[in-house]
Amino acid sequence: MTIISHRLQEILFAIENAKATALAAQNVQLLAVSKAQSADAVREAALAGQRAFGENYLQEALDKRTQLMDMDLIWHFIGPIQSNKTQQIAKHFSWVHGVDRLKIAQRLNDARPVDSTPLQVCIQVNVSDEASKSGVHIDEVATLAQAVCDLPRLTLRGLMAIPEPTTDARLQHQQFKRVRECYDGLLALGFKLDTLSMGMSNDYAIAISEGATIVRIGTALFGSRAPKT
Ligand SMILES: *Cc1c(COP(=O)(O)O)cnc(C)c1O
Repeated sequence: MTIISHRLQEILFAIENAKATALAAQNVQLLAVSKAQSADAVREAALAGQRAFGENYLQEALDKRTQLMDMDLIWHFIGPIQSNKTQQIAKHFSWVHGVDRLKIAQRLNDARPVDSTPLQVCIQVNVSDEASKSGVHIDEVATLAQAVCDLPRLTLRGLMAIPEPTTDARLQHQQFKRVRECYDGLLALGFKLDTLSMGMSNDYAIAISEGATIVRIGTALFGSRAPKT
């Protein structure tokens, strides 16, 4: 067994345990965050059964995809989205987390090839009230959600969040809970959603206990990342 396949089994086991601490039964999917990891590392995880991979940097992701064309993988774009990258993102990814303004949603919609299934998107919500952080303010989520639902080449699946990093477990719970309450608010308004993308290597068990359905895990699976040059 390789290190990556061993860690993958451990994480899947920890996810199952964390599900038992959640208020309601939920599906939880592991998104393997492979940014700054080699195509070989992705292949190793894929051979161990992992299919969904998350990438932050377009060019790096496209290079890796080319090397892994023989594998049947599902690619999620989870990084910040620049306008001039929407064309390629819409063409080469199945999912985009991190949509936080209408202009980006429109550009993704317009660029999604007609022969592909609609692009699956999550709206990124800002629960930390930091002006510098990306993500739409909680009060503006419903308006953006409606606008995204009106775009035919996109399918709104739910919300994504990257809470302020903290080791204070109480604060971690609180931030994830705010995302879940925002999500529940959208469900109450009639939006058909099934995805709450939150939780990373250091806090995914807490995110699951607060309702996460996709956890985005990099370091805990692949080990530390090489610094980006
Ligand atoms: C890098 C990254 C992750 C993974 O972080 P780890 O701490 O390595 O698990 C998850 N989500 C996003 C948006 C990221 O940029």
